[in-house]
Amino acid sequence: MSSLFKSRILSAVFFLLSGLLAAPVLAGGEVNIYSARKEDLIKPLLDDFSKQSGIAVNLVTGKEEALLQRLQSEGANTPADVLLTSDAGRLSAAQKVGVLQAVKSDTLAAHIPASYRDPAGYWYGLSVRARPVIYAKDRVKPGDLSTYEALADPKWKGKVCVRSSDSVYNQSLVAGMISHHGEAKTEAWAKGLVANFARPPKGGDRDQIKAVAAGECDVTLANTYYLGGMADSQDEADKQAAAQVAVFWPDAKSTGVHVNVSGAGVTAHARNRDNAVKLLEFLAGDSAQRWYAETNNEYPVNPAIPPSATLKSWGEFKADTLNVAKLGELNAAAVRVMDRAGWK
Ligand code: FE
Repeated sequence: MSSLFKSRILSAVFFLLSGLLAAPVLAGGEVNIYSARKEDLIKPLLDDFSKQSGIAVNLVTGKEEALLQRLQSEGANTPADVLLTSDAGRLSAAQKVGVLQAVKSDTLAAHIPASYRDPAGYWYGLSVRARPVIYAKDRVKPGDLSTYEALADPKWKGKVCVRSSDSVYNQSLVAGMISHHGEAKTEAWAKGLVANFARPPKGGDRDQIKAVAAGECDVTLANTYYLGGMADSQDEADKQAAAQVAVFWPDAKSTGVHVNVSGAGVTAHARNRDNAVKLLEFLAGDSAQRWYAETNNEYPVNPAIPPSATLKSWGEFKADTLNVAKLGELNAAAVRVMDRAGWK
């Protein structure tokens, strides 16, 4: 075979393949997503969206920081129309560096309570997670617990496990406390909490729950979906650890339980802005909200949708009504406070 002929065949094959591999062009155009949420936590929803809307969805997943940096460096050339990530602290950070744009939508306003979205519309919460106290059932009585503040009491010395201050979840919790109690009081609290640590912070939320179950400490703070995931897990050790702990909803008589969101915003340079808004509206709608709640044990942001059976088993609670955007605003102050308190 001549090399010219060979290269012609190769280019013909390549042409065929590239035609096959390209995303199908759907009547409704497309929308491009950068997602810090894992593919299996979002893909089935996106497939549903495509089927219903005729809009093709292209998904890029990655780590929060990497995606944010990518959006910044791509600037106006970014292919992304939507940024999907968790924690109001991260959504606010994206807004601050200018990679999001404000969006107004009656549908989003109707489905998402005001405290779970940015007041100017730069991002919208799509699922809610609570960060309650989780305690060892055999060593702690619910009556021993009351508020987040009370965990700084010397009676908990050597009994508290919490992940590090690098965790945006803890930063947001501390930001919430600053908003309610002021910086000085929050710093005094953080110092007391650090003094009660059973060990230097290490691992994620799941590891804290396991440490409580293993008797390394008696109480921790963790996001509810981690406990839900362990309780529903195929892994026997996870299941057993989850069975040894229980949820306590703190601050029931005062500010309520610290809550946060996963959410999304339309990018500043979105080429498919209308489709991006349609996607957000879909994610805030009934079927998507139901799926979130069932699959990832998160609370629906849309109050019309009931939480999953696992979530219901932990009982009802009073959620903090503070706008989660405040958690982003006070993030830098929270990091300073934790630093001064020696929270590693
Ligand atoms: Fe998480």
